[in-house]
Amino acid sequence: MKKFLFLLIISVLLLSGCSDSPEDNKTDTPDTTHRTTVTEKETEPLETPSKTEEATAETKEETVPETTEETSEQTENTLSSLSSPDFMLPFESYSWEREYPVEYVVLHFTSNVVADKTTPYSIQAVKKIFEDSSISSNYIIDRDGSIFCFVPENYAAWHAGVGTYADDEKYTNKMNKYSIGIEMLAIGSYSDMQFYLTQDEYDSLDKSLIGFSDEQYEALKKLVRDVCERNGIPFDRAHVIGHDEYNPNKNDPGELFDWDRLFE
Ligand SMILES: [Zn+2]
Repeated sequence: MKKFLFLLIISVLLLSGCSDSPEDNKTDTPDTTHRTTVTEKETEPLETPSKTEEATAETKEETVPETTEETSEQTENTLSSLSSPDFMLPFESYSWEREYPVEYVVLHFTSNVVADKTTPYSIQAVKKIFEDSSISSNYIIDRDGSIFCFVPENYAAWHAGVGTYADDEKYTNKMNKYSIGIEMLAIGSYSDMQFYLTQDEYDSLDKSLIGFSDEQYEALKKLVRDVCERNGIPFDRAHVIGHDEYNPNKNDPGELFDWDRLFE
């Protein structure tokens, strides 16, 4: 009898065009093989196996209708008005439709410094790296403080990857699903960059390229406040975190990033 009821519920969901059913979740599952072989520092997710497990669990617990409701609410606010969509990624290929309310903001830095040491800050070049590596972020902040949206907020971008946080298993290797990812175009300290550059290469960089610009701090403050307000996230250090805090093997935003300037 229970089985019959379950099948009936699933049939009703499918007939009503439910956009967040477990079956749909499977269809947008990215190619794990490709993503796990990428060697870029920012490469991540590895969330595919757990996604399938979650879909199964949701089916068993018959919680699909609740998840659908949450997703509909999420889609109302999709993009900060402070940002420009000029460089939007083809996000449906580089993210998952958001399943859960956003709880965190994760900060990163990125650049094209490995390929271009004189002009490492090109949104177009970084966008290409992201596309080639199957990674993404919700926002990226240019050196002059311009904010661009790569992936709207109702899609979970692939920026956080493997890691743990707050001693809560639900975030283990699944932070993408609970967070907004913000990248800043920046180059960290040598210690932060030694995975990419030799000491000589690092020393040869124009010093004005190192660290974060005043304009970026100003833009970041506004953007993070806006994201937190609209998503009901406390604007504090426990909810705005660095990638390196989620995954200690990462070095961004790194030791040059001044957290006090974000919250001052
Ligand atoms: Zn990162």
